[in-house]
Amino acid sequence: MSTFADINLPQSLAQRLIQAGLTTPTPVQQAAIPLALKGQDIMAQAKTGSGKTLAFLLPIIEQVMRREASAPAPGPYTKSGPSHASGPKFLVLAPTRELALQIEMELRKYAPISVTSLSVYGGTPIERHYRALQRPPMVMVGTPGRLLDLAGSGHLKLGGVTFLVMDEADQLLDRGFLPDIQRIIRLLPAERQTLLFSATFSGEIQTLAQSMQRNPARISVDPGISTPTTIVHAYYVVPGDQARTQLVHTLLQTVGGGRSMVFCDQKYKVRRLAAHLGGEPASVGALTGNHSQVQRERTLGAFRAGRLRSLVATDVAARGLDIQDVAQVIHYELPTNPNSYVHRTGRTGRAEKEGATFLILSQSEEREYLRMVRQLRIETKKLALPVFVTLPSPAPMPVSEQQAPRHRPRRSAEPSGRRFREGENRGSVHRQGASVGGPRRPRY
Ligand code: ADP
Ligand code: MG
Repeated sequence: MSTFADINLPQSLAQRLIQAGLTTPTPVQQAAIPLALKGQDIMAQAKTGSGKTLAFLLPIIEQVMRREASAPAPGPYTKSGPSHASGPKFLVLAPTRELALQIEMELRKYAPISVTSLSVYGGTPIERHYRALQRPPMVMVGTPGRLLDLAGSGHLKLGGVTFLVMDEADQLLDRGFLPDIQRIIRLLPAERQTLLFSATFSGEIQTLAQSMQRNPARISVDPGISTPTTIVHAYYVVPGDQARTQLVHTLLQTVGGGRSMVFCDQKYKVRRLAAHLGGEPASVGALTGNHSQVQRERTLGAFRAGRLRSLVATDVAARGLDIQDVAQVIHYELPTNPNSYVHRTGRTGRAEKEGATFLILSQSEEREYLRMVRQLRIETKKLALPVFVTLPSPAPMPVSEQQAPRHRPRRSAEPSGRRFREGENRGSVHRQGASVGGPRRPRY
């Protein structure tokens, strides 16, 4: 079995990984890291929780360390070695704010302090980013909207980027984000290395991605498998919404000290369900794009730290988030598409751990669900409804949020709407045409 040192990572970095308990590279790391170190473009598909983040972060850290080793020693007036005044050399794009932050935190865990980094995303005061960029980092991680705002106002120079990563690349290249991604790519040098990672890539996205890469190496670990086999899939059929809520509550009581995530399609359902489950006093948090960024980070922090045992969320939490010990993922209703099912479910069963996912379906959703699992090559089983545990008293909720919206949100309005909800573009005068988009994207 190969080690991190065998795949040409510097000894000190391999040592740091071992100290953190990572002894052996995962299959996607074994496949991608040597190619990335050779300068190759990569499109890598590997199931959720299989270590894709380090598959792109370790080559970044290695490259910076190598450059430092070959650069002249810092002069008396330079604080930390070579100057990066021209802008970052490494750019990592992520579709959600929490994921951008998580990726940078992961980098900080393993990189020496000389590898400077910054994560930027909407919902935080842009002036803070202006100030941070007065001394540009080597590695930038960010969501597309905020990066474009910073580039548009001249605070961020992207002309020196020689290494681009798109994490959750299929979502970034989907129509909601595509115009922003194309704008970012136009700001980058053509001479660069481009790496794409996701658990899911459609043929259409692969073709599109080719126009942004040079002869990429295609990596597919377990082709066609996007969901870890350590996850048990099962479903219930319920007679109505009251039973859905009671069943969620009952399932939340079954996991002992473990954490649970519950996904709903729409924001008002998240808020309503979290309130019916007793809200924060009952250790249940809610996360949607309507919450302020401060609230979002506080809720996710409390969930990661175990102060909240359950998190009810929209798809804003479906991609990339790596939270320890999520014992089960509950789908409050049938996810709108197989990718959503794969990514939501992938919050459990990470790094070869066991996990479980439960779908709560109406009679009419059952057939479509069975088609979805066949397509995903997943085995599932139907479970009999348990005896329901009595619901706690509901948490108070503003009157305006107790009702469903009178009209279902227009899905075609999602991309521009999402930006404003995420606060990425607010006040931006640099971009036009933000309303280009398609009808299939979920609202967060
Ligand atoms: P993905 O992006 O493929 O969904 P992540 O990169 O978030 O997965 O990694 C999932 C988990 O696996 C993280 O907690 C990470 O620390 C852990 N991990 C990554 N690489 C290794 C490794 N080589 N050995 C053990 N655990 C690892
Ligand atoms: Mg990931």
